[in-house]
Amino acid sequence: MDYGIQVVKKLCPQNKYPIKCPFTRTPTRVVIHNTANDAPAANEISYMLNRPEEVSFHFAVDDKGAVQGLPLDRNAWASGDGRGRGNMEGIHIEICYSLSGGERFCQAEENAAKLTAGLLRQYGWGLDRVCKHQDFDGKYCPHRTLDLGWRRFLRLVEKNLTENKKEEMKMDYAAFVGYMERYRQEAGRAVSPWAKAAWEKAEQAGVLDGAGPGLPLTREQCAVVLDRLGLLG
Ligand SMILES: [Zn+2]
Repeated sequence: MDYGIQVVKKLCPQNKYPIKCPFTRTPTRVVIHNTANDAPAANEISYMLNRPEEVSFHFAVDDKGAVQGLPLDRNAWASGDGRGRGNMEGIHIEICYSLSGGERFCQAEENAAKLTAGLLRQYGWGLDRVCKHQDFDGKYCPHRTLDLGWRRFLRLVEKNLTENKKEEMKMDYAAFVGYMERYRQEAGRAVSPWAKAAWEKAEQAGVLDGAGPGLPLTREQCAVVLDRLGLLG
């Protein structure tokens, strides 16, 4: 999956699943956090995996990229709501360097917005699936992101969503020809029930050749059809 930023996997070893991510689940949302620390993403993930407590999250994101520590189809212990929807259904993203803030925090937030947009695309979710830790247990987290403005962060995510959509809409000629060929195959496959009787008559009478029932008629094909009907003298 291409999230538009570098994602390094440093996944939890299976023998630690019972403490870090005991449940398999289908995620339904993204939950945003701030680390309240000044360590880079790789350190946050190693620390998370090594500490013996039930504390865990899926990604840490810094100014360079993201590090993934948990598989997305397993829960995390991140939003303080026990077996509630935050922990059980959220994909938890920790944004690094929030203690001191500054340029590297802004860049980390920018990367987290890209990762979030990538996850929304991956799961076919809208912006309404982006939550904050605070939504689940009231804790003021992601603290610096909230200080700077939650709607501003959502707009960052949205900007990355629409930019990626524009990218997807760009099509070169080769891709266009490929899509046309797929269209021709689909549209040319079967005669609609309402047209079946007439289609067979036209074919038997030699007016049409029986190919591509759902495809449009070009003007040159039209001229040939008119000629076959004897209408052109
Ligand atoms: Zn949090």
